[in-house]
Amino acid sequence: MQKQCNCGEIMNLKLRTVIFSGRVEIDNVPIYTCNACSHSEVIPEVKKDLSGLIQELGACPEKQSYLFNECNEWANILVEYKLTQKTAQSAQYKLEQMVEQRTNDLLDLYLLAQSLQDDAWLESIRKRLQQIGAQMKY
Ligand SMILES: [Zn+2]
Repeated sequence: MQKQCNCGEIMNLKLRTVIFSGRVEIDNVPIYTCNACSHSEVIPEVKKDLSGLIQELGACPEKQSYLFNECNEWANILVEYKLTQKTAQSAQYKLEQMVEQRTNDLLDLYLLAQSLQDDAWLESIRKRLQQIGAQMKY
């Protein structure tokens, strides 16, 4: 997962903590960072969810912290991906495989939620699938 910066250098993907209004810490936000010019930007796949979260917090949020990976599938996969990279025996795992694995897991859950006719659960799984679906286009 790399992207070219406006300055011409390659930007790397990192999970960073975003601090909003000086009071709210949002951990594990996937962000592209350029080592050459220090430019950074939130990856497009999670922009909508991140701005949704910030909107929910409002203008004067209370001091609190969030794990972005708990409300965004794409961040979730990246956190797991980072963990697998730390252990040598699973280093062969590719990000694409992890996305596929996660999609399969979610589809299993979806079928389960369907059989239980749990609409709220169905809706949350559907949202998670859409979050990774947006990434599939790349
Ligand atoms: Zn740059």
